Amino acid sequence: MGPAANKEKAKRIRWRFHLVVLVLLTALFGLPCLGPASAMAAEPARMIDYKMAGDATKMRIVMNFDREPDVRWFLLRAPNRLVIDLPAAKVAIDAKALKARGLVKNVRYGALPDGSSRLVVIGKGPFLVERVDVLKNDDGAGYRIVADLSAASDREFDEALSIQAETTGSTVAGNKSDRVSKFPLRRFTVVIDPGHGGIDGGAEGLSGTVEKAVTLAFARELKNKLEASGKYDVFMTRDSDVFLRLDDRVRIARQHEADLFISIHADTISLKGIRGATVYTVSDRASDAEAQALADRENLSDRLAGIEVKADNPEVTDILIDLIRRETHSFSMSFANTLVDELATTVGLINNPHRFAGFRVLKAPDVPSVLVELGYLSNPKDEAQLIDPDWRNKAAESITNAVAAFASVKAAKGGTL
Ligand SMILES: [Zn+2]
Repeated sequence: MGPAANKEKAKRIRWRFHLVVLVLLTALFGLPCLGPASAMAAEPARMIDYKMAGDATKMRIVMNFDREPDVRWFLLRAPNRLVIDLPAAKVAIDAKALKARGLVKNVRYGALPDGSSRLVVIGKGPFLVERVDVLKNDDGAGYRIVADLSAASDREFDEALSIQAETTGSTVAGNKSDRVSKFPLRRFTVVIDPGHGGIDGGAEGLSGTVEKAVTLAFARELKNKLEASGKYDVFMTRDSDVFLRLDDRVRIARQHEADLFISIHADTISLKGIRGATVYTVSDRASDAEAQALADRENLSDRLAGIEVKADNPEVTDILIDLIRRETHSFSMSFANTLVDELATTVGLINNPHRFAGFRVLKAPDVPSVLVELGYLSNPKDEAQLIDPDWRNKAAESITNAVAAFASVKAAKGGTL
């Protein structure tokens, strides 16, 4: 299969993935029923309630009105926003309904000088608008606006913006930062995830080294090295001491359409003598008891920070998602093997250095992902290495070499293994 055909397939599968989630959302909100063509009501339509549901990949917004509202919408960037204009509507929303959720960071609303109302939905990152529809409620009581959003890359958001500019000649994107930019052909994209952060310090070393600081310093070094090659686009899930949910880390990788996601850690283990690096890939069944224990500890991150953890989405059972996962998994395994070989030449590894377990942060269905334990903070020699700039330099070099080998194999095989 050539790269073009493969891209087509990826697109199709991605679309199906969205469809699956949409079906789930439909189950949540009931089937839409199309209303008559929009007509301006004599009196302003009054918004009765505002609801948001969904997660970091797919969201639905439902606004109920007492009569048929007129609606217009458009996108703005920096930050990514969906602007919904309601020319003849009165809007009052319970502040609780506007709290950040899934893809949505913030919602603002208010009256414009001409008496119309405007609602601005600010995304946590780029997204696509699948639809904004006005529907008649089944029980005959009023109308609703339904807006469906799905997570997307910057490129996809900008494509939607440029279509908007072509079809509407919209000049609303007036200021400089809002202007549509055409992206060049995308490069191999790496997302580096420094483990832990903020309220979640991670593991602590014998002489007080904190994991979240080790992972951030290392991630920065790795980013610099990868960027110095001039061949990759590199992003970090965090570049400061902040807490990030595990699914936000996954969302950021998907948002950048990452070709590779590398989560960096340096944990502790009860056996103080154990030292060396380990490379983990995701698996429902853990390779060994220590890997299982480690994944359990890492998966606790959200809960330790006081955040409710939802059970895995039921769409994982979908056969298409399963196919994507399998392909992604073979990429992850391939990269893990390359990485182990590279690290073996420069830094010490534990026995059986490629292990696996059910890490939540490695569960993006379409992004090859590995988690690297650089070493153990419970071992005094490892702890000393982990804060040594020379060691960091050497280890980051090895990972950069592994990325280069993986990227060229992937390119040579047209994106499939
Ligand atoms: Zn960790």
